[in-house]
Amino acid sequence: MDLDKLLRKNIIDLKPYSSARDEYSGEAMVFLDANENPWNQPYNRYPDPLQRKLKEKVAGLKNISPEHIFLGNGSDEPIDLLIRAFCEPGEDNIVSIDPTYGMYQVAAGINNVEVIKVPLTESFGLDAGKLLAAAGEKTKLVFLCSPNNPSGNVLQQEAILEVVNNFKGIVVLDEAYIDFAPEKSLLTKLGQYPNLVILQTFSKAWGMAGIRLGMAFASPEIISVLNKIKYPYNLNILTQQKALELIENRSQTEDWVKQIINEREKMGQMLSELPFVIKGYPSDANFILVKMHDARGIYEFLKEKGVIVRDRSKVFLCDDSLRITVGSPEENNLLINTLKELI
Ligand SMILES: *Cc1c(COP(=O)(O)O)cnc(C)c1O
Repeated sequence: MDLDKLLRKNIIDLKPYSSARDEYSGEAMVFLDANENPWNQPYNRYPDPLQRKLKEKVAGLKNISPEHIFLGNGSDEPIDLLIRAFCEPGEDNIVSIDPTYGMYQVAAGINNVEVIKVPLTESFGLDAGKLLAAAGEKTKLVFLCSPNNPSGNVLQQEAILEVVNNFKGIVVLDEAYIDFAPEKSLLTKLGQYPNLVILQTFSKAWGMAGIRLGMAFASPEIISVLNKIKYPYNLNILTQQKALELIENRSQTEDWVKQIINEREKMGQMLSELPFVIKGYPSDANFILVKMHDARGIYEFLKEKGVIVRDRSKVFLCDDSLRITVGSPEENNLLINTLKELI
């Protein structure tokens, strides 16, 4: 794959900002090179622009070398950077499945990049042939999401790989919910696919949506491009410290994931027993998409009672459906008991 054929010319030619910490990153007696305040340690110092220490930890965690890792301010950052790096505004386009995570479309819209949407099947499956047929000369990126939001299901790995093997541009596979799925991440196969970018996040399984930490995994060449165009200090010191702590205590995260999966199965069962529920879609994530009679009315009723869920009834293929996050056992009981008031 020739990355230069896919990238925007201005990005290829760009000379990135060089910070004080890029020019000198070793140890020293005194640092008088970055106009920092000498007091208020350690926050007086600019963070490491390449987050080397944290990347070492993530590399160990994911069993992949650091040059395959980009860390960003949530997954939102690499989503935006990928579009900016590869898509000429007003000219190039991206292809995405439909329905899916709304941020691909928003990031494309901000960058004046058209989105070609390819419908999933009625059961939210991926038709690789249809997706590949929708991609044209001007298509630089394909966005896939597995497990998908808002449907909750994993896409068939065979179909994903058919897209990766046959699409001439970059395939972005968003695995934000992969920790809740029985399927394995495609991360172990990243080395075989130079056009694959995998996104993961600390926002869901890790319980860290508030620190804003997303991960992109890709070839070292693609990672270099993202590093070249990101804000120099995109991850603050507090986020990096907190993430290091969290990775040390990763058994906590594993426990949470087990509990959430357990609660998801219970919740799915209880929801399906409610008379106004038409069906709960099978979920490999930490939420369930539920189709019911008068979804909007039920959404409003729950809201009045202080229970907030996501109304997805206006979303393609999701008519009369609410997306319900799996919470703690207490929160889930409250949801079910409130819904039972409607019987
Ligand atoms: C929640 C979610 C994310 C996470 O985004 P962050 O910016 O990392 O918080 C990414 N992708 C999908 C599909 C999501 O639902």
